[in-house]
Parts: sequence; structure tokens; C-alpha cells
Amino acid sequence: MSLANKLADERRARLAAERLLEQKQAELHAANRKLGKHARALSSEIDETRAEVQNIRDENLRVKSDLDVAYQKIEIAERRLWHSIETIQDGFAFFDADSRMIAANNAYLAVFDGLEAVKPGVSYIEILQFITEEGIVNIGGARPHEWRERMLDRWQSPAPEPEVIRLWNGQYIKLIDQRGHGGDVVSLALNITDTIRYEKELKEARRRAEAANRAKSSFLANMSHEIRTPMNGVVGMAELLMDTALNEEQRLFTSTIKNSGEALLVIINDVLDYSKIEAEKLVLHEEPFDLERCIHELVTLIQANARDKGLDVLVDYDVFLPTRFVGDPGRIRQIMTNLLGNAVKFTESGHVLVRVTGIPCNEDGTASIHVTVEDTGIGIPVGKIEHIFGEFNQVEDERNRKFEGTGLGLAISQKLIRLMGGKIWVESEPSQGSTFGFAITLPLSNPKEADHPVSVTGLHRVLIVEPQETGRGILERQLGQLGLDVSGCRSGAEALALAGENIDLVISDHAMPDMDGLELAEALREAGHDMPFVLLSHNTGLAEQDPARDCLQAVLQKPVARRALYQALATLEPSSKGPRRAMRVLAAEDNKTNRLVFSKMVQSLDIDLTFAENGKEAVALYQSFAPDLIFMDISMPEMDGKDASRAIRQIEAKSGQHVPIVAMTAHAMNGDDTEILAAGLDHYLAKPLRKETIIQHIRQACPKTARAPLAVVDTVQAAG
Ligand code: ADP
Repeated sequence: MSLANKLADERRARLAAERLLEQKQAELHAANRKLGKHARALSSEIDETRAEVQNIRDENLRVKSDLDVAYQKIEIAERRLWHSIETIQDGFAFFDADSRMIAANNAYLAVFDGLEAVKPGVSYIEILQFITEEGIVNIGGARPHEWRERMLDRWQSPAPEPEVIRLWNGQYIKLIDQRGHGGDVVSLALNITDTIRYEKELKEARRRAEAANRAKSSFLANMSHEIRTPMNGVVGMAELLMDTALNEEQRLFTSTIKNSGEALLVIINDVLDYSKIEAEKLVLHEEPFDLERCIHELVTLIQANARDKGLDVLVDYDVFLPTRFVGDPGRIRQIMTNLLGNAVKFTESGHVLVRVTGIPCNEDGTASIHVTVEDTGIGIPVGKIEHIFGEFNQVEDERNRKFEGTGLGLAISQKLIRLMGGKIWVESEPSQGSTFGFAITLPLSNPKEADHPVSVTGLHRVLIVEPQETGRGILERQLGQLGLDVSGCRSGAEALALAGENIDLVISDHAMPDMDGLELAEALREAGHDMPFVLLSHNTGLAEQDPARDCLQAVLQKPVARRALYQALATLEPSSKGPRRAMRVLAAEDNKTNRLVFSKMVQSLDIDLTFAENGKEAVALYQSFAPDLIFMDISMPEMDGKDASRAIRQIEAKSGQHVPIVAMTAHAMNGDDTEILAAGLDHYLAKPLRKETIIQHIRQACPKTARAPLAVVDTVQAAG
């Protein structure tokens, strides 16, 4: 081969080698580039992972520190809780569902007084055992095992009742145990020794206060006794003195004594009433009464005063409002007397007007009643309006000072109205006048009852002659209302047969078959009876012209209005002559003046009166004198009225009789009457005694065998 060829071959080979090198170099480069790229990706991945790891590490740290804080907090809370639980003076413990103690505070453990065994882990049964064995609890007379059983039963119940135990040292512990959801029990042992001691002290204080209050009441009762007894003499004697021949000056002196005495009694009664209401001892005595009549009576009473001052007193009673209600008429009178009295007292000229309106409520049979007392007097300054209802409060100014009074009237009225569930108010303008009003709700009284009952003295037995049954029934009821002993019959013949039995009055129908009313009247006169005879006729004109009219005391139109009947009865004069004896009345009274007052009060009566000076004499006279009625003073020497009454009732137990005994006492507190009635007395009169009340009792007790004590009939005090 030529050199040139060789050279060319060599050059070709070299070129080929160079190209290969170049190619390999490019390949290497590309591979390097790829590697570099890879390496870069890898390193950024590493960076990311590293950051993530750091994050997690941070997170862990944070959680850990949070946990630390939480642990610390829990620890603090637990410490505080236990600290608080330890601070409580009362015992506190937890038990698990197996009744084993989990934990207890010192107060709880202290009760066991260093007993090592009582600590967390101890069971409730063991605790009960220690308690009884060591005498920690005073279990009284109970047997230890019985006591433990009872306590364990209680502990095991789903909701144990609180239990009070007494420790050996006199402390009282109240156990309160509460079962939780998992069966755990939270146990509280409260030391209630102070509370119990406090309760005892309170009870003692209350007992002392009540004793003091009783002492106050009896002081008041005694005071009223001490003052009323002599006042009874003063007022009674002054009253009697006024009935004797006196010159003008003496009459003035006497009436002043009487009026001052009565005024003093009013004040004493006010003070007593007020204390009674304060002591919550005042009870309302409810009974049917006629409000309209009651108001008219009060107006009649104050009329004299008002007339002296030239005042008109007017009553405007709502014509559509019923008049009969059930309430305490005495207290309503007291309120009205106060309001009317004030109105007249504080009015110089003009009028006083009582206005009564009301709305009857048909559903419950009550009516709300509105009463106002309006005057044209001096009025009350605005600032004083609230003030005047307070006790002992009066308007203090120039014009007012001259008026007398205790300042108790309105305070009492307000309290009474409140007691009745009502309210009282006043509207007033100085110099123009005042209007006092009160509103109360009262049950309506049975409308069948008489509207205007009257008292009839001297009449006891009434015979009604009326063939028609309904008419007879109505008359019987109307007359029965007056307290009369009413019998009825259907014909003149029956009436004649009955007339012998002490009949005081015959009320007969006119037109009757067989024997008419006029014929009956004549027949009665012919038979020697002289009791009054009232004829009820449809044709009064005819009856008036009949010659037998002379045998009649009254002829009334049929159907007779109740009011007209009562009025007619009130004008009758019962038969005066009669075979009957006088009524025997025994009065036991140790005080000479009071005996004199009593005898003067009944001197107009046709009775046989005898006095006993003490209880022993009363019992002896009861047997020898056989009284129809006894008035019995309660406090008397030797034997008091209650003992004497008991003795009389004992004697009567054998004979089966019952003489009415009326107590007379100067005591006026509530509760006295019950004691007195319990001793066998029938009625109760507080001193000072009133003539009318005494007479009323005598009249009511008059037996049929005795003459009527009064020969005349009271006049009707019909309203209007
Ligand atoms: P007393 O009339 O005994 O003073 P009251 O409690 O009844 O006591 O009345 C208290 C006061 O209220 C009276 O003192 C008077 O100042 C005033 N007052 C009561 N009623 C009237 C009235 N109708 N007009 C003017 N003032 C009155």
C-alpha cells in the first residue's frame, strides 16, 4: 500500500475517531446536564422534606408546651378545689361505686378523731362500724346494729334522704349524700349546730314575745275592767239623776258628767279595739243585717248634733241595691259612725251626704258596695291626706286644733275595712269639703228574710187563723222573724179551742167558711179573752163597718205587706190583765252602786227582781226563789260567777231544767266570752250595761207562765 494511501487511511481513521470523540463528548455533556438537573430536583426535594420535618418538630414542641400548661392548670385547679374543699368547715368525701372512700377533706376525717383506719380505701360499712363502736354518734336508745342497718339502707337507696345525726359532743350534723352516674357518691356532712341553736333561741324568743303580748292583752283587759266598772256607776247614776227633778244648772252638770263618761268609754273602746286589731285578736262577727236601716239609725243618732250646727244630713241609698247583706254590722256601724261623726265634726255649714251604691253580682251572690260620706267642711290639706289614716294622727292647724278626738278613728276604720277585704279612701279640698269612701264586697243575705224586722215587746204567742195553707205559712215565717212563738190553725172553731193557751195576739183571715173572722173575734170576747185581734181582709171597708169592729184592734188589707203588718203590731197594746205571775229575775252583783243602777234600769218593768251579793247567795237563791232568768256578775267575792253558774248547772242536771244565765263582766277581751260560755252561762254582756240590752234579755227569757214584763210595744224603727 502506498504511503499516500496509508496516510489517507490514517487521516480517515483519525477523522472518524475525532467524530466519535465529538459524539461521545456531546453524549457526555447531555448526560451531565441531565444529571445536574436531577441533582437540583433532588436537592430541592430534600429542602422541602427538611422544612416539613422542622414544621412537625415545631408542632410537637407546641403541643408539648400546651400540654404542660394544661397539666399545670389542672394541677392548679385540683389544688384550688382541694384547698376550697379543705377550707369548708363541713365534711366532704367521695365514695366509689363499691362504697369505698376515694377522698375526704379534713373536716370529714376530723370527726373520727385520729382513727387511722378511716382514710381513702375504707368502706362505708366499716365507717358505720367505727362510728358505733367508738361512740362517735349519739344514737340514743337505738341498738347499734339496728342503727347501722338503717343507715346502710339509707346509703344504698338510689336517692338517700338527708339525715341529721348528733355527735357525742352535742354537735348536729346533717348528712347529704348524692349518687352520681357511675355509682360514685358525693357525701356532705354539714355542721348545723348553730342553726339548731339559733332555731331554739328563736323559739324561746318567740315564746317570750308571746308571753309579753299576752301580758299586754291582759293588762289592757284589766285596765278596761278597772276603768269600766266605776265608769258604769258614773254614767248609770248620771243617767238616773237626769230623770229626777233638777234645776237647769244641775241638769247641765249632770249631762256633762254623763257625756264625759261616755266619751271616756269611747276612747277606752278605741284603744282596746286598736290593740285587738294589732294583736290580730279582732274577729268579725258576721250575720245578716240591713245596711240601709243601719245607716238610717246612725243618721238618726247624729241628727241631734247636726241640727245644733244647722247641717242637713241626707242619705241617698241606691234604690236598685238590695239592703240586706251578711257582714259584721257592729263593725260597719263603727266605721260609719266614725266617718259620719268626723263629717259633722269638721263641717260648720252646709250638708253631710251619705251615698250608697253597689253592683250585685248574681254569680256568687255577693255585691260590691260603695259607701261615701261627703261633707262641705274644712277639708284636708293635700299633704296630710295619707297622714290622717295613721294612728293618733290629726291635722294640726289653726282651724283643726279646736276639735276633740283621739286620732284613732280613721286608723281603726282603715284596719277594719282591710279586715273585711275592702279599701278606704278620701278626696278632699281645703275649705271645700271632704269625701270619705269605702268599698267592700258582702254576700247578699237571704232575700226571703224580713226587710225591716221590728222588736215587739209584750207579745209572745201569736195565733194565726187562716184556712189557706200558703198564706198561713208566709204569715208564720214573717212573724217568726220577730222572735214570736207562732201557731196556726185553719178555722174559728180551732182558734176558740186554742185561745185558752196564753195567746197574746190573734191574727185572723176575714172570709172563712163556717165562722168568719169578725164572728171569731166576737166569740173570743164572749169567752172572756181580751187579747188583741188583727183582721186581715180583702174588703177592709166592709170589715170597718161591721158592728163587731169594736172587737178588733186593727184591720189590714190582704195580702198584707210585711212592713204594714209589723207597723200594726207595733201599735198594739197587749191584754193587761191576766192570771199569770210576774217574771222572776235574779241579779248577782257584789257592787252596791251597780245593784242600784241595775234596779233603776229595770224599774219600769213588771218583774219580781231579787239580788244576790255573791255567787254563794246566787246558788241559794236559785233554789229558793226559782228565777226565770239570772244576771250574773263574773268577778264576785266568795264564789265567782263562773263557779256559781257551774253549781247551778249541776243542780239542774238532776231536774232537767235550764235557767238562762246572762254574764255581766267588765272584761272585754276576746276569748273571755268562750271561757264564760264554757262555764255554763248562755249570754255575755260587757259593762257598761245598756238599759235596752237588759230589757231585751228579760223579754226574751220571759216564760209563757209569766206575765209579759212590758205592757207596751216598742215603736217600729222602719227605715226611710
Ligand atoms: P279624730 O277624729 O279622733 O281626731 P280620726 O282618725 O277620725 O281621729 O281623724 C283623724 C284626723 O283626720 C282628724 O283629726 C282630722 O284632722 C282629719 N279628718 C277626718 N275626717 C275629716 C273630715 N271629714 N274633714 C276634715 N278633716 C277630717
